[in-house]
Amino acid sequence: MESRPAVIRENIALVRERIASACARAGRQEGGVRLIAVSKTFPAESIRAAYEAGLRDFGENRVQEAAAKQSTLQDRDITWHLIGHLQSNKAARACELFEWVHSVDAGHLAQKLDRAAAAAGKRLPILLEINLGGEESKSGIAENDAPDLATAIKELPSLALRGLMVIPPLFNDPEQTRPYFRRLRELAEKLRSAGATGITELSMGMSHDFEIAIEEGATMIRVGTAIFGTR
Ligand SMILES: *Cc1c(COP(=O)(O)O)cnc(C)c1O
Repeated sequence: MESRPAVIRENIALVRERIASACARAGRQEGGVRLIAVSKTFPAESIRAAYEAGLRDFGENRVQEAAAKQSTLQDRDITWHLIGHLQSNKAARACELFEWVHSVDAGHLAQKLDRAAAAAGKRLPILLEINLGGEESKSGIAENDAPDLATAIKELPSLALRGLMVIPPLFNDPEQTRPYFRRLRELAEKLRSAGATGITELSMGMSHDFEIAIEEGATMIRVGTAIFGTR
């Protein structure tokens, strides 16, 4: 489904108001929260409308889908975030197409991304996706495995481990996601004090719960439905 540009613009204004009040409640600066517009399933025209309303960060969850849209949006200064599960055979392509990868969840994937980034002559910022709910159906590594993976990534010179990402279990009441956001922040603190000092980003919070995530320290929120409409 495609929303009209005017609707997308209004939606973005509403999301910005929600961000502003959450930041005010939490005593945080709005500049400390990066709004990533999740454009999966929506056409390039929708991205263009959001871009014209001032957004510069866009999130996609599939490499192929992102490639198709990017080819029609080439001359724009967009920062692309890969937020969906990445298979290691697509690591090289992902490294070409995205400035950030939020979904690193395995050592072999990190190695492939490192090689691809080295070949491209860049240092790729990544986040570790943590499966805090222990849900079988979801990707992400277990909390207990995060320290070892963070240590392994230190040896990969073309990756910059910048933070953590979580997709908590879905609750009707967003307040119930708060403990997951808090645990992600605490895990980041733990990894930082164990030497992973680059872990400063927390990618958490979606359309229905990003205010809670901001209150718990989110630095990147991933918002789809509230901007582009229902998928
Ligand atoms: C789709 C998606 C989002 C956005 O979800 P909304 O509820 O539409 O805001 C955020 N993060 C990930 C990883 C997603 O796949």
